[in-house]
Amino acid sequence: MISAQNTAASDRPKTVVIGAGVIGLGIAWRLAQAGCRVAVYDKGEAGRGASWAAAGMLAAAVETEPGEEPLLPLTLESQRLWPEFARELEAATGISAEYRDEGTLVVALNRDDAETLRHSYEFQQGLGLGLDLEWLNAGEARRREPHLKPGIAAAVFSRNDHQVENRALARALIAACRGAGVDIHEHCPVAEVAIAGGQARGVETARGRDDAEIVVLAAGAWSRGVGGIPARYQPPVRPIKGQMLALQMDPKAPILRHVVWLPRGYLVPRNDGRLIVGGTVEERGFDTTITAGGMLALLEGAWRAVPTIEELPIAETWVGFRPGSPDDAPMLGPSGIDGLVIATGHHRNGILLTPVSAAVVSAYILTGRLPDMALAFDPQRFGPQRFGPQRSGPRRSDRARLDKPRPAPVAAAAQ
Ligand SMILES: Cc1cc2nc3c(=O)[nH]c(=O)nc-3n(C[C@H](O)[C@H](O)[C@H](O)COP(=O)(O)OP(=O)(O)OC[C@H]3O[C@@H](n4cnc5c(N)ncnc54)[C@H](O)[C@@H]3O)c2cc1C
Repeated sequence: MISAQNTAASDRPKTVVIGAGVIGLGIAWRLAQAGCRVAVYDKGEAGRGASWAAAGMLAAAVETEPGEEPLLPLTLESQRLWPEFARELEAATGISAEYRDEGTLVVALNRDDAETLRHSYEFQQGLGLGLDLEWLNAGEARRREPHLKPGIAAAVFSRNDHQVENRALARALIAACRGAGVDIHEHCPVAEVAIAGGQARGVETARGRDDAEIVVLAAGAWSRGVGGIPARYQPPVRPIKGQMLALQMDPKAPILRHVVWLPRGYLVPRNDGRLIVGGTVEERGFDTTITAGGMLALLEGAWRAVPTIEELPIAETWVGFRPGSPDDAPMLGPSGIDGLVIATGHHRNGILLTPVSAAVVSAYILTGRLPDMALAFDPQRFGPQRFGPQRSGPRRSDRARLDKPRPAPVAAAAQ
């Protein structure tokens, strides 16, 4: 919680942000724009955590499954903010986040897939939030994406689920922060949050102490590893491993234009011709191994829908760690310790949620009040009295995919 004393003493508090991913950088940028002195610390290179590893999909509609309805107003609001956020970033830095608005196709390959897709489509349409989804027959889907294999069963077109190039986004945010006067300290881990008298007073880093009135914990999947915070106040975040690969298309003749969701995995075409193939969902801690089974699952899932990928060179493979939370939703706001603010747990939606997270967390720091739309994401919903067992299994949709034969103990699935 931010103490009234803090906000009254200075409504532009000196702030230290732990973690230079898109969440920490977005918050730092907004605070610096509001006139705060801000320092950001990263244990490695800025922007090289999950924010670098992601696929950059802004998939508010097609992501939504039964049980995840509470997250939808936040994801939709962030989706609404994205075009202006991208324009503002580019105007400030000259760096484009490559916001692309072709929309997303969700493809069913056979009758089973089509039934599952019909179920999701009806559920999402029934939410009454005006999600713009269109059922397509196979011919219509293949007219939009001719490289989809002949004989697919059906598809859904989601008009408002777009994408950005998340690595460019991180570069732009770093430049925007620096331009606004933020000090970014790379290769400088925060060892612990300095807490005295029940209040956060700064951080101890590899290069010494930095005093601050507000400390923002935005260290992604590593947020529990930052010292000094009593266990009961640590955000319940865990790493969820994702293996990814990129194929190289001819940028002048890309084989796909839309983001395409498959029964297993997804494909995201980039401006430079890379075709991102994602992503496995694995509970393996911080294991960085790229496995044959993981690559096989990704390639097989992609090949079943778009056989022409067979000809494409593999450009890159990588691993990233989603900051998972017990309910798959982010934690934004008070930690329970005065002056320590939490901004993590964005799991598979952190790129999508960057604009809204920056807005609500900076508003909280500047005013002491969490905007209404973020109240459901108060980290204290996992307070000691309400803290249930952490979910260690995969999410529902992954479980459905696990039921199918697959080559490795991984599920090629959502972000
Ligand atoms: C494979 C994969 C695919 C994804 N696809 C999508 C997608 O399509 N769309 C979407 O919206 N989201 C996607 N996500 C999720 C998204 O990437 C994350 O939710 C988001 O990047 C989280 O941002 P962050 O800033 O919280 O974390 P990160 O980007 O991980 O940043 C945290 C930073 O904290 C630093 N840090 C850690 N410990 C310390 C310390 N002690 N001191 C200082 N610094 C520290 C780390 O070095 C890191 O740079 C995907 C994630 C993965 C892994």
